[in-house]
Formats: sequence, C-alpha cells, structure tokens
Amino acid sequence: MAGHYQNFKTVVYIPAEVARDFTKEKLSNDLAFLEKYIGLDKVYLESHRTDVDVSEEQLLMIKEFLESKGVEVSGGITTTINDFEGAEAGKQRLFETFCYTDPAMRKRLKEISEYAASIFDEVILDDFYFTNCSCERCIQAKGDRDWVDFRRDLLRDVSENLIVKPMKAVNPKVRVIIKYPNWRESYHFTGYVPEVQKDIFDATYTGTETRSVKYTDQHLPEYLSYSLVRYFENGWPGRNGGGWFDTYQCWSIDRYLEQAYLTAFAGAKELMHFMWNDLIDNPLVAPMGLQLKKIDEMLGKDAKPCGIPVYVPFASSGENHLEMRLGMLGLPIEPTPYFPAEAKKLFLTESALADKEIVEKLTEFVRQGGDAVITTGFLREAGEELRKAGLTEARLTGRSHVVTRYHATGDFTGYYENEKGILFPEIMHGNNMSWSLLNGGDGDYHATLFLRSTYGKGRLYVMGIPENDGDLNRMPTAAIDVLKSVLSDGEYYSGKHFSAFTYEDGSLILYRYVKEPIRSDRVTIHTDREVTALIDVASGRKIPARKVVKFVDFRLKEVYEADVMLSPGTFRKYVWEKN
Ligand SMILES: [Zn+2]
Repeated sequence: MAGHYQNFKTVVYIPAEVARDFTKEKLSNDLAFLEKYIGLDKVYLESHRTDVDVSEEQLLMIKEFLESKGVEVSGGITTTINDFEGAEAGKQRLFETFCYTDPAMRKRLKEISEYAASIFDEVILDDFYFTNCSCERCIQAKGDRDWVDFRRDLLRDVSENLIVKPMKAVNPKVRVIIKYPNWRESYHFTGYVPEVQKDIFDATYTGTETRSVKYTDQHLPEYLSYSLVRYFENGWPGRNGGGWFDTYQCWSIDRYLEQAYLTAFAGAKELMHFMWNDLIDNPLVAPMGLQLKKIDEMLGKDAKPCGIPVYVPFASSGENHLEMRLGMLGLPIEPTPYFPAEAKKLFLTESALADKEIVEKLTEFVRQGGDAVITTGFLREAGEELRKAGLTEARLTGRSHVVTRYHATGDFTGYYENEKGILFPEIMHGNNMSWSLLNGGDGDYHATLFLRSTYGKGRLYVMGIPENDGDLNRMPTAAIDVLKSVLSDGEYYSGKHFSAFTYEDGSLILYRYVKEPIRSDRVTIHTDREVTALIDVASGRKIPARKVVKFVDFRLKEVYEADVMLSPGTFRKYVWEKN
C-alpha cells in the first residue's frame, strides 16, 4: 500500500488526544477513508500535547496496526503544557508553550523527549516550540541581552540538552525533525533559530498553512506555501523533510487544495495533512487524491525548481512577504538565507538589512555585472550608505503621492491613464544621473516608480512599493512588466493573479489562483529564446509563438511571445518547441 506517488509521500499527523482514544475499529475505518481519497504513506503519531500523554501500550497498538497495513510510523511531540505541580504557576505563556527557564518544566520536557525516542526512530516537533515567556525568571536570565539574543542562546541549550542529546542517548538511531511555523519573519523574536538549529536537528519541516489570506491573523500570501519550502531547501539543502498544511479557515475548497499544490510544486518530499481527525469525513479531502495524482504525473521525477534569487537572511524582518506578492504576480521567486553572490539577478527587500554587510555585498555584486533591484523600504533604511558607496543618488522625500497614471518610458506607447489611485512613497533622483523606467503620477505631477542606475559593469534598480502592498495587484500589467523584464533571466510572464513555477529542465508550470476576479485570463510568455511554439504537455496542443520587436534596455530587440488562457484553479505545464 505504501508509495502512492513518485514525487512525494502523503502523510497525516495523529495528535495525542486522537491517539489516546483510538480503538482498532475506529483506526481501521478511518484508514479506509484516507486510503480511498488520498492514499496514506506515513503518519506522525504524537505521544505528548498539552495535558495528554499517550501510553506506550496504546502507541504500540496503533504503530503495529498501521505498519501491518504498509504505513510508515514516526513520532510527534507538541511542546505545550498546562501548569503542573512543581512548576511555577501563572506565567503568561501563549498557547501553553513552555517556560524554558523553569526547572520543573525543563525536566518535564526532557522526559517527554526521551519517552518519544524510546518508541520511535524518527520524531517531529510541532511548531509550538517557540517561547514568548517573559516571566520574572526569564527576565532575570535575560539580563542585559535583548529577547532575540537571549532566546537564541536559550533555545540552543534547550534544543541540544533537553531534546536532541537526551533522545539520541535513549535511541541512537533517532532522527529529530523540527517543524518551523509559517511566520518566518518572527522566528528570531521567539527562539526559532534555524541558523543555529540546523547544526543540532537532523532535518526541518515547513509550515505551508496559508489558509484565508484576508481573514486570518497572519495575512500570509498564498505563495508562501511554495516559497517557504524553497527557503528551507536553500537553507538546509537536502534536509527539508516536507511541507505541512491544514484545513483551517480554508474557505473555498480550492484554497485548501492550493496549499498542497504549491507545497508539491516546491519539491517537498512529504505532504503533511494536519490532522487525522480534521480529515475524516471532511469534503475538503475528497478532491485531494485526484489532484495529487495529476500533479505527480505532471511534475516528472526530480524536477528541480529555480527562480529569481531573493536574499532573506536568517533572523530578519521588514517588508514581510513582499517577495511572495511578486510571486503571485507571476515572478518565480527563489528565496535564500545566504547571499547569492554568483547570481546574475537579485531582489532585496528591507529584510536583507539584517545582514550588516549588505551594502558592501550589494556594491560588489553590481560592480561585477549583476542586476539588483532594491525596494523603497531598503532605500529608506540604507540610503545614506548606498549614496556614500556611489550606487545611487536617489532618496525618499518622506512624502507619498497618488498615482493614477503610469508611463513605461521604454515603450513609445506606454501610457496607462485613469487607473484607480495608489499611494507610493516619493523617490527623488537626479535626471540623467539615473533613468526612470516607469513614471507614476496624477495631475501635472509624476515621480519615478522604477529607477535605473549603473555602477561598474552592473545596474542597480530602485522599485517603488505601494504604501499598501496589496495595491501591487492594482497596478497595470504593463507597469509590472517593467520590473519583470529587468528581473527575469531571458523569460517573463505577463498577467495577474497567477504564479509561474520554473524548473531547471526548462519546463514551466502556470497556476491561476481562485480569487477575485474569478474568471479565465490571459498570460503572455515573453522569451529571448528562438522558439516556434509553446507545448501544453498534458494535451500536446501547440500554441504558436510570434516574433516581436521590443525596446529593451535602450535597444530594439527581437523576442518571442505566446499567449495562454488560464482558468482559476487549474495548473498547466508547458515546454517550448524550438527551431
Ligand atoms: Zn519564563
């Protein structure tokens, strides 16, 4: 029964309270349901969560039953706990997460770890491993450090001495996996330190639960389900265990399915469906198997994703999720926690400023011939250093201006007027010292929205980011294309509300999200390659490519274009037919 798909395993999480109450009959019925719809390759079976500890007898009963049906069984722990005798009571612990300075809680955590390792050869930590405890004991232990530095040291100690070492002492074979939450931008505030933990844990696992974008606490772009997996793949190469999504606040069945699509497109080796009891008899699950089969066939084995490098250092925040919003405008994004010095293109947001040497690295990157795009958020914070280095003379005036008219200056007909007003920060630059590729204004005034400077062999671009990131979607497609043509490496995709996933073998997957406006729309693919047609891989249908002449980087250039119609909720794979 195991091995339902060639590119990934289908995995389900069994929480402690469900494990505790399982009878063999219920287990058997539930398994039949999961097997019918998604096929079950593996489970993570939890031994502890908050006030539930599952007996060894019960865990072994479940483990033996599932293994006899061909399902792999690993362990799981959720590091939450209620107040108990011996621990200091009344701490303001969010979601019952641990106080890692409390001696009784530390002792308890070590016991919970050892117990799991005594039963399982692989154990995953659910993403409640953070701490926001600010009790008197934590304040004392923190001393002069800020919470970020204190918690980095604290969680290094806890990860080593209360989790991984005790587990390996009990079971030398045990693999310990740390699942990171979907809120990357806040890891360092709460003790999640992948830059430290990658040398302690065997593997990572990625939270890809993006849920409802508008109506949840975290307002995560849908694209995170793809880009966070890529981030960890680049951060811990070869050791990203999988992606993890759930059914919560997934309004419209497509929203639920999209989480799985994007996790799979990113190359995650396991697709974790959280959690067992939420899935049984849930209509969200019924279409999942159908779609996973199609994705598995479409991907082809070992397709390796690639895209535009975005440097997002560990322990960083600022202009959070901005690169994901570009990902939803059709730019294939490849985020990495390490500076990609060898890349040809580079996109930097305010988050990159967490690297104290960023301006030095950027200067060298551009000087050697790279194309780097920085945002107005980056310019706001690093402007003085950039001007001193000679990369740009531009500065932010501190004012915002309304844009209802766009002018793509490299295109003789590139005027787009009477658009809905969007507020942008005003960039002031020296005319002919740098050149504006996109102007935006209202009435008799305009300012640059996309500015080009040269330095050495390369170019630095400043991109105006709307005061509300959500307004990126409201910019005319042709205005966004100015950015796309600069950041792309020979090929870009025009349109909105879709993502383009590109692979090293030259294949392309397009997906149009099920969100307003819910209708089919065109995506135009522009490429420098000499091609004759675009082939829709599933149907074999050929879409003829046309040769066009465009004004690119101050020169007329022959390029090729092809149009496809994309319907909401459908993914399609394409390859080029060449001469
Ligand atoms: Zn505390």
